[in-house]
Amino acid sequence: MKMSDRIDSLLSRMTLKQKVGQLNQEMLDFRRLEEIKEKIRKGEIGSLILVDSAFAGHDKSARASVEVLNELQRIAMEESECGIPIIYGKDVIHGHIIVLPVPLALAASFNMPLIKEGYSAIAEAAAADGIHWSFAPMLDLSRDPRWGRIIESPGEDPYLGAQIAKAIVEGFQGEDLSDPKSIAACAKHYIGYGASEGGRDYHKAEISDYTLRNYYLRAFKEAVKSKVSTVMTSFNEVSGQPVSSSYYLLTELLKNELGFEGFVISDWEAIKQLKKQGVADSMKDCVYLAFNAGLDMDMVDRLYIQHLEELVEEGKVSMEALDESVRRVLNIKLKLGLFDHPYTKCDAPIDRSKLRSLSREAARESMVLLKNDNNVLPLSKNAKIALIGPMVNERRALLGAWTLDYDLDEVKTFREALPEIAPEAEWYTCDSGLVDDELRMIRRADVVVLVLGESHEVTGEARSLTSIELPVGQAELVRKARSLGKPVVGVICCGRPVALDNVDDCLDAILYAWHGGSQTAYAAADILFGDVCPSGKTPVTFPRVTGQIPIYYNHPSSGRYVNGYYGEEAINNYEDCLGSPMYPFGYGLSYTSFEYTECKLSSDKISLEALEEGETIKASVLVTNTGNMDGKEVVQCYIRDVCASMTRPVKELKGFEKILIRKGQTVEITFELGKEELGFYNKDRNFVVEKGEFEVYIGDNCLTQNKAVFEVI
Ligand code: BGC
Repeated sequence: MKMSDRIDSLLSRMTLKQKVGQLNQEMLDFRRLEEIKEKIRKGEIGSLILVDSAFAGHDKSARASVEVLNELQRIAMEESECGIPIIYGKDVIHGHIIVLPVPLALAASFNMPLIKEGYSAIAEAAAADGIHWSFAPMLDLSRDPRWGRIIESPGEDPYLGAQIAKAIVEGFQGEDLSDPKSIAACAKHYIGYGASEGGRDYHKAEISDYTLRNYYLRAFKEAVKSKVSTVMTSFNEVSGQPVSSSYYLLTELLKNELGFEGFVISDWEAIKQLKKQGVADSMKDCVYLAFNAGLDMDMVDRLYIQHLEELVEEGKVSMEALDESVRRVLNIKLKLGLFDHPYTKCDAPIDRSKLRSLSREAARESMVLLKNDNNVLPLSKNAKIALIGPMVNERRALLGAWTLDYDLDEVKTFREALPEIAPEAEWYTCDSGLVDDELRMIRRADVVVLVLGESHEVTGEARSLTSIELPVGQAELVRKARSLGKPVVGVICCGRPVALDNVDDCLDAILYAWHGGSQTAYAAADILFGDVCPSGKTPVTFPRVTGQIPIYYNHPSSGRYVNGYYGEEAINNYEDCLGSPMYPFGYGLSYTSFEYTECKLSSDKISLEALEEGETIKASVLVTNTGNMDGKEVVQCYIRDVCASMTRPVKELKGFEKILIRKGQTVEITFELGKEELGFYNKDRNFVVEKGEFEVYIGDNCLTQNKAVFEVI
């Protein structure tokens, strides 16, 4: 039977209550297990989220065994009237048992095939535990590193975010959603959550439609194109309208204009919160607004199950709209193959070795070499090394926030991993944690490796900071280490970009290792000792100081004092700080060197008609590895629409390619610029390419001046 016929036949047999039940997601709270079973029997639960309390991703959640999940599923299949399977969801954000780097770090890898492979391995591991659906990828464009949730985001760039959306959705969902190794993805938090005012979590976002469509929407658009199964609404309002009650955002834009065919779920209690946000005066009103806006499934509020039936009976919600939402949910359940294969095999083994090696590779590729004066790195494996700092013995923090199922036995500390990689080195380290002892170790060594960073507890949901400098005391340790006259290497393990102005000049080398997952320490060791050439690039601008926020590379030009980011002389954004960032977007050093030829174009003009027909301008360069080591380079292509009907960014990333170039080898890299790359949403919300001059830049970070020009006629 065709899927649509199967859905029609189910719908024709369902009572109003059972239909509403499909739109109700509850928490798998073991204290309410009997009540949950009874509700499943009555067809009042369509989905369970596999957590037993609200915890915002900071604790391990109670894990439901496959046996329990199968038993609940059996009740749904055999004891409920309609026999509709439950869809089990969980936040599998960047790992399952074995953990990949936090998503912001993964973005720094600029390696989309690797990200896709990583998420496909995570999907397999999660599916083996009975999980059908992950609440990821998080696609919130984020320009504010004070916001704790920046760690979950793809960073500040819409194009990079879009590529990551595609990689993660395809990784999770595979070629075929019904493959038992695939799970459904959820693009979240739609939309504008990353623009929370002041970096304060859950706060309002003020975003014009122009900015929303051109920046914040881009990654969601790509997720929809990649056939993401579900989308989660965000907690915030956008310019006066909570997203969860916005007909324009959920129905007009997401479902009608972008053509999203899956279902929309609220964020945790986001429907109830409409009352607090001041647009609804009762719980029933919250439901009326959210449902009619296009929000299909209620996450844990248990409000749809209480009020939707009545709203339908009163004619305030139409039966057609209800059927349409149920249809969307059933469609995903059918695509997942849940009707035909509702149960998970018990004790299916998880291939840990595959996950481990993917995690190590991802961590290596994510790490960014920010600084390497006098080629302090790589270190000799025979050196005398002082290994100190607050993160040396840390395990849990390296995994980062939003890691619900992990195994700490899989995580080696820096103290354990580095000597394993360089057993011939003389190691000076201490257990006391007393700074005086640490300084004594420094005096004995040739070089100092300071492992610095922040706790995972100051990142993630509801964990914003007013200052994004290194935590208290660490700058002093850096300065003191510096004063002893030895070369100092900083390895920084953080979830967000940290403002390094107060320590940068005291560090000879900086390896930004992030919260790099289960294999952070091994991956850092691989780079520190030169077994691997660093290749990560910043996915977000690193400010000098907190006060520069927001600072992002793709800002529009103003008439005055604007290009401080690009280091132009006589530009003073602030009296007390340079206008340029500490490290710009797309930046990262290597142990080898790459030389670029001039950017060449296939033509110096292209017509609107040709673009409409799918033709492109091709921009290319030759890149040569002129150093002494094979290495990967991230070749980046930016454009600038010089004069348009609206102000356009001074630079926008429109393509990148990460490629291994052997020493002495030259490769040609070509980017195609067509309608999608050259267009933007104008003031009438139309996606247009406008006539006029375009600049194209190809280089190794956003500051590149390697430019060519063409005209759209
Ligand atoms: C978060 C979501 C998450 C949900 C379920 C919320 O607090 O904002 O990102 O998916 O909880 O755990």
